[in-house]
Amino acid sequence: MEQQLEVLKQAAIQDLSQAANLEKLNEIRIKFLGKKGSLTGVLRGLGALSQEDRPRIGQMVNEIRAELEAALARKGEELKQAELSRKLAAEKIDVTLPGRRSAVGHKHPLTLTLNRIKETFMRMGFDVAEGPEVETDYYSFEALNLPSEHPARDMQDSFYITEEILLRPHTSPVQVRTMQAAEPNQPIRIIAPGKVYRRDYDATHSPIFHQIEGLVVDKNISFADLKGTLELFIHDIFGRNVKVRFRPSFFPFTEPSAEVDISCVMCGGKGCRVCSNTGWLEILGSGMVHPRVLEMSNYDPQQVSGFAFGMGVERIAMLVYEIDDLRLFYDNDIRFLGQF
Ligand SMILES: [Zn+2]
Repeated sequence: MEQQLEVLKQAAIQDLSQAANLEKLNEIRIKFLGKKGSLTGVLRGLGALSQEDRPRIGQMVNEIRAELEAALARKGEELKQAELSRKLAAEKIDVTLPGRRSAVGHKHPLTLTLNRIKETFMRMGFDVAEGPEVETDYYSFEALNLPSEHPARDMQDSFYITEEILLRPHTSPVQVRTMQAAEPNQPIRIIAPGKVYRRDYDATHSPIFHQIEGLVVDKNISFADLKGTLELFIHDIFGRNVKVRFRPSFFPFTEPSAEVDISCVMCGGKGCRVCSNTGWLEILGSGMVHPRVLEMSNYDPQQVSGFAFGMGVERIAMLVYEIDDLRLFYDNDIRFLGQF
């Protein structure tokens, strides 16, 4: 009997030493100490023993039981600690890892260009004026010396909503609205930036694009003021080394009128694909405000004179950033937009 108990104890100790987790430990507890466990079985068999053996064996069983319970508790604590350590190791945060950056947005290249142009003119004392994008025919053409039968209207392939209402093909209506809102002959110095619409779509034209127009009206405004202002603007945007050229042109709302060219920013004037080998790039239109336009807005051409100019913001941005397809501005491709 003693021998049988010794074997049982050794088996339990052996099992315990190999238990890898708390579940296994519980199985061992049931196997030896449970209601149907082997040690319990021995206890049940005590009745069959002789009077002399019974107390001795009973004591031995109790000792082994106590020993096993202590060993089980020890092992259980050990396994719990091991599990905790494993968990801590697995869930450890490595503070030396580089952080995850979230992508920060930034301004669109057209907005950047628009802001730069605005800043340049605001430094020269210009105010920024805005107006509606859905305009009347009157403000879009009529008040700009373009009556309905005028052939120059063909230059503007506009989007009409009704016969009288259209998406503005240029920001010029803002000039008219500003003059009409002013006191008679009140000096004006504004730029009018904004979206405009035309029925065009290719590598250099988009049905929606951005314009900035400018208008200066005051006493004694001459073509010299026009030249000085635009030269200052161009040198501010493209650098002082750029040459500026004024070329006679025609616009119905200015007289005289001039196209303004700059020496090619790509080749420095030697001639390349961008400037069609001319060495020059056309960047804006300008001229002295037509007396009829002044009269129609209640300004007296005998008292005041003025100049006006207009340019496409896309055109300027393409030259500043050396972009060869205007459609890239509107494709919304993050690989393109991320470069600015
Ligand atoms: Zn060139």
